[in-house]
Amino acid sequence: MQRSLCEKGLRAKGRLQSFLYNGSRSFAVPASSSPESPPIIPPFDYEPRPYNGMSADEIFQKRKSFLGPSLFHYYQKPLNIVEGKMQYLFDDSGRRYLDAFAGIVTVSCGHCHPDIVNAIVEQTKLLQHTTTIYLHHAIVEFAEALASKMPGNLKVVYFVNSGTEANELAMMMARLYSGNLSMIALRNAYHGGSAGTIGLTALNTWKYPLPQGEIHHVVNPDPYRGVFGSDAALYAKELQDHIDYGTPGKIAGFIAETIQGVGGAVELAPGYLKLVYDIVRKAGGVCIADEVQSGFGRTGSHYWGFETQGVIPDIVTMAKGIGNGLPLGAVVTTPEIAQVMAQKIQFNTFGGNPVCSAGGLAVLKVLDKEKRQIHCADVGSHLIERLRSLQKNHEIIGDVRGQGLMVGIELVTDREKKTPAKVETGVLFEKLKDLGVLVGKGGLHGNVFRIKPPMCFTKADADFLVDALDYAISGM
Ligand code: PMP
Repeated sequence: MQRSLCEKGLRAKGRLQSFLYNGSRSFAVPASSSPESPPIIPPFDYEPRPYNGMSADEIFQKRKSFLGPSLFHYYQKPLNIVEGKMQYLFDDSGRRYLDAFAGIVTVSCGHCHPDIVNAIVEQTKLLQHTTTIYLHHAIVEFAEALASKMPGNLKVVYFVNSGTEANELAMMMARLYSGNLSMIALRNAYHGGSAGTIGLTALNTWKYPLPQGEIHHVVNPDPYRGVFGSDAALYAKELQDHIDYGTPGKIAGFIAETIQGVGGAVELAPGYLKLVYDIVRKAGGVCIADEVQSGFGRTGSHYWGFETQGVIPDIVTMAKGIGNGLPLGAVVTTPEIAQVMAQKIQFNTFGGNPVCSAGGLAVLKVLDKEKRQIHCADVGSHLIERLRSLQKNHEIIGDVRGQGLMVGIELVTDREKKTPAKVETGVLFEKLKDLGVLVGKGGLHGNVFRIKPPMCFTKADADFLVDALDYAISGM
């Protein structure tokens, strides 16, 4: 019922003359709208529970008292989100928002997707935890299903609890397997915040002033801002130079996201990974694809981001969307590379626990059953097309990029100079929230809107988002 209503394609331009539920509050919907009137969120047949919990102010105060001062929050007055259903979130007043950021690209199938909730609950009732010292069917079922999604000889799975842990493990494997130390990562990357992975991350906002180890950052092949435009060969040459001049000539490995997520949905120049994987392997290194954001069909054309560049990595790391919100990550590699880990015990207390495994397996099944990859391709191309036509009307939109439902909108005050529109991005970000659209922000200067919603996001949602952006920019 709820999807059929959503997918009737009722355009956000709000042609419906009736009262529509917007959570527990109903609003009169105008007969027509133009950029002069705010667009209307698509209808959704779901009523959130009344919320009688702690107030937003009280939570905020307690958060300041009891949680670390490094936490950041979105919006001047942070939202108190108390319920979620598919691609929508509800605040403490019952107001419904379109979630175009999916808990930072994590809620892949949809908030509280019934199949996944059911798998988690049923497994929790039976057995929550024992570790891998005993046998359990859920971990092997999940590992087998995940391995079946991988190309080539990527067949050995390690389960961990987060993307950071996955990248830590991948880096350790690369070093042990190659016998070398030097790791190469791309500038503008985010690979984690632990003592080790913070070295791979290459955005100063996320890096503490600590020694980062034997890690080198090469120029990222950014078609919009990069010094070599879209010329993959020149970026690859820069990487080769870096190996020749900046390392002992032999390296442990290379890691890259196919679309840089935190960095602002930056795609890599076409053909880059193919050239670079060759160079890395010749230098004795292994190639690691960080699929924490770009995996599981989100890019639309392929199940894995790296496939869009026609390569097969030696190690793939994943997290976020793999669990639809469960704390779950994985590293998948070849039997040869995995063998190097057998010299010691490699152990993770919660990795592959029955509950996360049951939930993760349910995620894979839902993505297949609901054909989410093709859906991402379809809705994503509609969204990108509409954003590109909006770009023609608004100078501030410097770049629209991405694939499937992994989209970036870069805002600039000067298209020639590509000056980041930092202040304007902040203003529009608040306005979008007021209009009922929650997007993410990214890029070194925080001037890129990141649109990476739950994959059940519809064309009507995309229209609502674009109309809201149009309305917000028009009112600046
Ligand atoms: N890799 C990428 C590409 C990420 O975006 C992130 C998180 N933003 C991580 C790794 C780290 O994941 P986690 O926060 O689960 O440790």
